[in-house]
Amino acid sequence: MNFLKRMFFFLLWLLQVHHFCRYVHRRKVVVLAYHGVVDDDDGGLWTLLPARRFREQIEYLNKYYSVISIDMLADFVEGKATIPDNSVVITFDDGYRNNHDIAFPVLLEYKTPATIFVTSGIIDRQELSWFDEIAVSLETYKGKLELPPLEMAVSVTDTNRQIVTEMLIQRTKRLCPDLRSTVLSVVRDLPASGEAKRHRMKENLMPLNWNQVRTLNASPLITIGAHTSDHTILTTCSLEYAREQILESKRSIERNINEHVDYFAYPNGTHRDFDEDIQNCLKGHDFRLACTTIKKFVDKGTNPLEVGRFCVGNDLTSWLPYFSLNLSGFSRMPSCRKRVAV
Ligand SMILES: [Zn+2]
Repeated sequence: MNFLKRMFFFLLWLLQVHHFCRYVHRRKVVVLAYHGVVDDDDGGLWTLLPARRFREQIEYLNKYYSVISIDMLADFVEGKATIPDNSVVITFDDGYRNNHDIAFPVLLEYKTPATIFVTSGIIDRQELSWFDEIAVSLETYKGKLELPPLEMAVSVTDTNRQIVTEMLIQRTKRLCPDLRSTVLSVVRDLPASGEAKRHRMKENLMPLNWNQVRTLNASPLITIGAHTSDHTILTTCSLEYAREQILESKRSIERNINEHVDYFAYPNGTHRDFDEDIQNCLKGHDFRLACTTIKKFVDKGTNPLEVGRFCVGNDLTSWLPYFSLNLSGFSRMPSCRKRVAV
C-alpha cells in the first residue's frame, strides 16, 4: 500500500501537478513545523529528520517559494504588510541542540529565516523532554512493562517496541503533570542495555543550552519563540498552571536573550490543546502569533492565535514528491481531497 501511495505521488510529481496547485494557492502562506535535524545515519524517530532531506527541502523552498520571517507573517496577518506570492515560514518546535549544530548551518548557507520555539525549563535543566525520555528508555529495553497509573501491562519486544513507545507517549501526553512524573519514574528505572545506542539517541535529543540560544538569536535569520516551560499540554492542567507555563517560558527566554518574545507554539498543537482562555492569556501577555499543528494555510484574516502549520517528519511528509505536493495544497483542492487519504 505504501508503495502504491508513493507511486501515486511520484506520478503526480512527474506530471508537475504541484506547480499548478502552488499557483492556485500562491496568495496563501504555508508555515512548516520541524523538530530535530540529525546526521543521515541517526534517523529512527519521526521527529528527527535526516540532514540530507532537510537540505533538499531548503533548496526546494528557496527555488520555488519565498521564505519569509515570522515578523513578516505577523505583519501580513495583522494587515500591516503585503508579502510575496508563494510565501513560506519555517519553524522548529522544542528547541533541540541539533537545530544549532545541524539545521542552522544549512539555513545560514541558504540565507533562510526560521523561528525556533524553545521549551525553557528543559533548557534550564539540560535534560530530555519527557516524551524523548520515554523513547530513549524503551529503545533498548526488552521485557515486561507495567504502568498501573495507565492500567497498562505489556511485554516489550523488538517487534512491538515502536508501537508500545508511541502508545505510551500518546497516553502519557494528557496526564496531569503529577501523574506524568509517576509514569516517568517507572520508565526511568527500566534496566538498560545497548549503552552506546542509548547514548547516541540521547545526544540527538538533547536541548539547546542558553549560549546556543543566544548565538542563534544573534543571527538576523533566527527568531526565538516560546513553547511553555515544561511542554505541558495547556488544556490538561488548571488555567492557573497554564498561565504559569506561558509566562515563565516568556520571561525566562526574555531574560536570557534580552529581547521581547512575541511568538508562541502550543505543545502538541491540535484543536484539543488550546482554548479561548489560553488564547486570552497569550493576548494579555502581548504575543502576536501562536502556532498550532492544525494543517491549514495562513491567509489575511487568519486568527493570529491559531496559525496552522504543515508538520514535516521522518516519513512520507519529508519525501520530496510528497513534500512539494503537500505544500502546494494539492490534497486541499476539493476535487482531489477524497483521493488523497494519507
Ligand atoms: Zn513540542
